[in-house]
Amino acid sequence: MSDAANQTVGQAMHAFCASLFPICRSITGKGARQTLAAVAEKLPLTLTEVPSGTPAFDWVIPREWNIRDAWVKNSQGEKVIDFARSNLHVVNYSVPVRGRATLDELRARLHTLPDHPDWVPYRTSYYKDDWGFCLTQQQLDALPPGEYEYCIDSSLEPGSMTLGEVELPGESPDTVLISTHICHPSLANDNLSGLAVATWLAQHVAALPKRRYTYRFVFIPGTIGAVAWLSQREDLVPRIKHGLVLSGVGDTGPIHYKRSRRESAEIDQVMEFVLKASAPGHTIMPFIPYGYDERQYCSPGFNLPVGCMMRTPFGKNPQYHTSADNLELLSGAALQDSLERCQEMVAILEGNQRYLNLNPKCEPLLGKRGLYSTLGGENDAKAFQMALLWVLSYSDGEHSLLDIARKAEMPFRTIRAAADALEKAELLSALP
Ligand code: ZN
Repeated sequence: MSDAANQTVGQAMHAFCASLFPICRSITGKGARQTLAAVAEKLPLTLTEVPSGTPAFDWVIPREWNIRDAWVKNSQGEKVIDFARSNLHVVNYSVPVRGRATLDELRARLHTLPDHPDWVPYRTSYYKDDWGFCLTQQQLDALPPGEYEYCIDSSLEPGSMTLGEVELPGESPDTVLISTHICHPSLANDNLSGLAVATWLAQHVAALPKRRYTYRFVFIPGTIGAVAWLSQREDLVPRIKHGLVLSGVGDTGPIHYKRSRRESAEIDQVMEFVLKASAPGHTIMPFIPYGYDERQYCSPGFNLPVGCMMRTPFGKNPQYHTSADNLELLSGAALQDSLERCQEMVAILEGNQRYLNLNPKCEPLLGKRGLYSTLGGENDAKAFQMALLWVLSYSDGEHSLLDIARKAEMPFRTIRAAADALEKAELLSALP
């Protein structure tokens, strides 16, 4: 038996993240493409190349950035900062440069984290021609005064930005959107965790025997990628009925769900129900116009019902945007737990419907329809009987099965099973 066969799902997701961790990603360029190629080995991914210079609402797709090497050498020719050791050592999107400077001249180009002297910060300069290096405070403190040589062997040229997406058609064109960003270099939780959970969730949805909704998983650079995707796919937007941004879903902190701008969309109700039932210590956060790509999906011109699932929320762990957001911060069990919550969300979205009780005048006789002995165990049978009564009572066209599960404080699957049995007994009829 191979090692892979013995892995838990969480371990397999962690291994996937580990395989992608070394790649130097950015909002454009080969790193993002290489990452999407790895996703494409698991999913039927469609890639769209959006050329540099393409307008996207108020934005323009930038030039494509690629990097081969970057370093700072001391007077002995030794590399004291080396991109080959970590891609965080160069400011992402740095323009190509080469030269000599004294340490004092170079200082303004060197970024550190004095509060965490052994961590390297992650810095970007996407929308301004700039360059710089990132290093630990300890590394900087150990540099003697004197002359240094520096080189950033990068290119910023007309090219394109790559968007990846998978459409899994369902009975209805009404769509569930799952979105995750792919643009960070060697950072694990902020980037790779969402990528892994979205990939495994897409595999799960692809394997469902039937789908009521169409699902669209998008793997895109943060911010500009969401802006570009919305601009390129504006025709699809009216079909999006529910959506979730996945980010920072691999650390061991409790789950945080940030509501959509609509605050009480069905996705908000579903996620609250899922987390109440199976995510101890979770927090529901109100919408704020800051964070991940829900900012774009929820902008007032779209106002899509898209929430965001995280574990430790945006920017709240000290490792955020530093070299300490590494594979050790990621837990296979947490990745799997995040995936399972998303699978529950899908099950509820798929099964949540409104019904009409066809025998609403007094209780129908359930026994003569064989509805008293549907389940084996006595407790299960009792719960199922209660579920039948709840569903009959509230199937008035006003309440969805989720509303009923909430009122009854019962698992959604029990309410769903009761509705199926009642429909089969011709006591319920599904409303469109
Ligand atoms: Zn980030």
